[in-house]
Amino acid sequence: MAQQDTDQQHAGVLPVDDEGFVIDTEKTEERELAWREAGVSRPITVVGNPVLHKECGDVTEFDEELRRLVADMFASQHTAEGVGLAANQIGVGLKVFVYDCPDDDGVRHTGVVCNPRLVELPADRRRLDDSNEGCLSVPTAYAPLARPDYAEVTGQDEHGNPIKVRGTGYFARCLQHETDHLYGYLYIDRLSKRERKDALRQMAENEPRYPVVAND
Ligand SMILES: [Zn+2]
Repeated sequence: MAQQDTDQQHAGVLPVDDEGFVIDTEKTEERELAWREAGVSRPITVVGNPVLHKECGDVTEFDEELRRLVADMFASQHTAEGVGLAANQIGVGLKVFVYDCPDDDGVRHTGVVCNPRLVELPADRRRLDDSNEGCLSVPTAYAPLARPDYAEVTGQDEHGNPIKVRGTGYFARCLQHETDHLYGYLYIDRLSKRERKDALRQMAENEPRYPVVAND
């Protein structure tokens, strides 16, 4: 059958709340399904692959090719049972991430951010949460990592429209984690030397439950 026209399918732009943040909590199942059904699941790159350890390039063309990439990212995220995925995790060095992640209240958020920048928060909004964190690119490993429990990101949607995304709890962690990826950082880069070593040991001792790209 002919390739589906993702442009037609996803022409919808997310509504915004009265502070200008996208409302990414509506029709989450429908949107996630439409994206991933238009895409092809790809294997996940893992720690040591150069594409994960350098800053990705800015997205400048908001075209059909970008939307095919986003569709593949949703498909890959679903296969790997992830809550967020950066483009370099499927080997593409472009600043795009997708997410499908619950917040502090268990509310599901689904969306796409191109060229994300984390908003610097005032000190009184920085409350640290030291929950466990994991990454599809460090398969099977987990480690506690303190991060602010609230995050705001600015960027563009898949059509190039400026957007603002905010989140609490696990979703705040996801926004920070995925933005880090696009600047060449993994969460294990934020751990102590010993914790990092332990995470790599966990990874070496267990089999990933999804296809990965072998490192040379
Ligand atoms: Zn990750």
